[in-house]
Amino acid sequence: MYDLELDVVISKVSELGASRVLLQLPDGMRPFAVQLVSAINKATGASVFLSGDSCYGACDIDIDQARALKVGLIVHYGHTQYVGDLDVPILYLHASIDADVDKLVEAILPELEGYDRIGIATTVQHIHQVDEVKEKLAVKGFEGLVGGGTGVTPLDGQILGCSYGTVIAIKGEVDAYLYVGGGKFHPTGIVMSTGKPVIVANPYNGEVSRISEDDLMDIAKRRMAAITISKNATVFGILVSSKPGQNRLAMAEALVGKLTEAGKIPVIIYMDEIRPEHINNYTEPEVLVNTACPRIAIDGIRGIERPMLTVNELEVVLGSRRWEDMWGDSYMESTV
Ligand code: SF4
Repeated sequence: MYDLELDVVISKVSELGASRVLLQLPDGMRPFAVQLVSAINKATGASVFLSGDSCYGACDIDIDQARALKVGLIVHYGHTQYVGDLDVPILYLHASIDADVDKLVEAILPELEGYDRIGIATTVQHIHQVDEVKEKLAVKGFEGLVGGGTGVTPLDGQILGCSYGTVIAIKGEVDAYLYVGGGKFHPTGIVMSTGKPVIVANPYNGEVSRISEDDLMDIAKRRMAAITISKNATVFGILVSSKPGQNRLAMAEALVGKLTEAGKIPVIIYMDEIRPEHINNYTEPEVLVNTACPRIAIDGIRGIERPMLTVNELEVVLGSRRWEDMWGDSYMESTV
């Protein structure tokens, strides 16, 4: 189960003398929310509010809610700091979960055949067990390598859906990667950033799977189709999110200039969260350019049928970036 670090929360609330607190919880933790609210309230006397909005990452801080509620502290679970300090103090907690590392390493052994050096990557929930995974791999005759933390992934071996510096740093030294965690979202990004196979060990259900170069080719084909269609488009809707860690308004305004120079008609659509019901009635743009979380364009949003490009992909459309430079180590960033 999650380590809620209640003692840390209570001590922070007391230290700040916060009488009002906003809790931001990822979806997986919401079933425990009321227990958490009660425990904090009982220990500190503070009024504790639950954020009902998204909590996709530490890019997604509910600062507007915090200001409206006049809280003295935001407690944000499940992510490490991503944006700079804001005008309301924020306590970031990992929401760690213990995986059964012995079982996990045993389960992946058949998939490691033919490899010697394995890069290890995970999200903040399991980062405390990276060294243990490395040791257990060594016992089985494999060398585990962990990339040093950097930037928005400050912990060794940590990755985000938009930041893969820790795996890229060891790309030349490993045959494949082991991702510890659930789902395909994070390991798909490892393949996109490195081009190397990824074995996925899901500690929640014990399943082992693999994301390969074939999966990468499927994504590449979809992205190429979106780029090809966009080359003939005239009207471009540039999506900007107001989320603190996703707000790239200056970049969007620079893109307006570039698109205008190229003879296109750009328009900025500004919103908190990119949702089909908010966008689909803007029928004139033939193409959407997403300046918010880059995974929104790459993974797609059900219900948005128009091509949606990342900023890097738009640069390919405009001829200022080579197709082969579109992913790699910086598909979040742009030269704009
Ligand atoms: S921008 Fe997207 S991938 Fe990056 S932390 Fe936020 S939600 Fe995750």
